[in-house]
Amino acid sequence: MTQPLLFEISRPGRCAVRLPDLDVPPTDLPAGLVRSDLPLPEVSESDLVRHYTRLSQMNYAVDIGLYPLGSCTMKHNPRINEEMARLPGFAYLHPYQDEETTQGALFVGYSLQQFLSEIGGFAAVSLQPAAGAQGELAGVLMMRAYHIDRGDPQRDVMLVPDSAHGTNPATTSMSGLRVIEIPSDGRGNVDLASLETACVEHSSRLVGMMLTNPNTLGLFEQNVEEITALVHEHGGLMYGDGANMNALLGIARPGDLGFDVLHYNLHKTFSTPHGGGGPGCGPVGAAASLADFLPGPVVAMDVEQSEEDAPHFTLVVPPKPIGRVKAFYGHFGIWVRAYTYVRMLGAEGMRRVAEHAVLNANYLMSAVKGVYPIPYDRTCMHEFVCEGRFEDAPDVRALDVSKRLIDYGFHPPPNYFPLIVREALMIEPTETESKETLDRFADALLAIAEEARVSPELLYDAPHNAPVRRLDEVAAARNMILRWQPE
Ligand SMILES: *Cc1c(COP(=O)(O)O)cnc(C)c1O
Repeated sequence: MTQPLLFEISRPGRCAVRLPDLDVPPTDLPAGLVRSDLPLPEVSESDLVRHYTRLSQMNYAVDIGLYPLGSCTMKHNPRINEEMARLPGFAYLHPYQDEETTQGALFVGYSLQQFLSEIGGFAAVSLQPAAGAQGELAGVLMMRAYHIDRGDPQRDVMLVPDSAHGTNPATTSMSGLRVIEIPSDGRGNVDLASLETACVEHSSRLVGMMLTNPNTLGLFEQNVEEITALVHEHGGLMYGDGANMNALLGIARPGDLGFDVLHYNLHKTFSTPHGGGGPGCGPVGAAASLADFLPGPVVAMDVEQSEEDAPHFTLVVPPKPIGRVKAFYGHFGIWVRAYTYVRMLGAEGMRRVAEHAVLNANYLMSAVKGVYPIPYDRTCMHEFVCEGRFEDAPDVRALDVSKRLIDYGFHPPPNYFPLIVREALMIEPTETESKETLDRFADALLAIAEEARVSPELLYDAPHNAPVRRLDEVAAARNMILRWQPE
């Protein structure tokens, strides 16, 4: 059933709001400031409510069903996080408020910095960056600043594995550095021989390496300590892309494995809302050698003003900051949610998150193994990558499998990433899904594999019952139409 658009039901004079009477004398605005022709739809409140409610129902969200978006950790957002963020004392804070009146908020920030330091094995954390990608930018600029500060400014090479998320090379380029790609070996690890060659070749120019562990194949980097030692030997630093921390919580600490700086994605690992429900937060953790370069302000305990039972907190800028990366202090509402998440789970709960995330991914992988090719057949971590192609249905592609999943009521996993796997489907169930949901999802994947053989047109034409059918993605990208226009 197609519903009319707001523009189509617009009738002159209808209105969904009633503005309060003016309590100041009316004046004319300067000429040219106001348009006389602003064709906005004129609709009643009920039309408006129906329009947006309908749009919201066309959407898919983690609150509707499984969202197996590999590497993005679309887990349940516990409602207690939201309740805490809505406490009036937090929700109505003003960033210009005097520090004396915001001690509780600063305590939350300070504690979250401490939790993240402990979880990652770092000396210090800045909560400023607004997302993982911005955390990367901050971290890479810190690495560069470190070398410049040591009087070693010619270093401009960053090593990035071929399995890396696209943000890693993008961050490197944005920081004015050169990317050298390092291939993976047959087991999905960084190819050590190639790494060694690159380290030797670029030794005096090496800023460091960006490494995701577990990597985007969902595999734990088995030689991680050799890698970090090798890069350090050549004067480089190790950047950890912490997007996949969900697999490590309470089990392994990147700081202990030799990483010097790492970003966390609070909107992935720490259950704060993601995507359209954002905003995000991508704190950066740093080893002692890099802590001075963190973007500020960060929350510090003011020892002089603190009493034994009443610590006093203050905002400080680290001694050699790369600068400010976000207005004011960052996304404070997200700090409250992530702080609540850590406190609700405690240290043992954190570890259970990682254990169940890994268990769920392995359960799902074994359910589809043999039907969907698994290119790197190892125990996976929090996600796995399989191929969306079948020997006996050669024309079916990963995209077709994904689109058909929509008909089965599931959000598709990422396709064609990581780039090193043919027809990749990257599946991350997360720990917050039940066995029953995983079974339903596995059944859907298996049913689709059967359809691929028996009636592949079901896949080519999918999705059949979504608000929009199969889109021509190439045409859409080449010829973007970003505004609805009346016909
Ligand atoms: C999500 C992700 C990023 C980027 O994080 P954003 O918060 O989306 O900016 C970087 N690397 C990996 C591996 C990711 O999964």
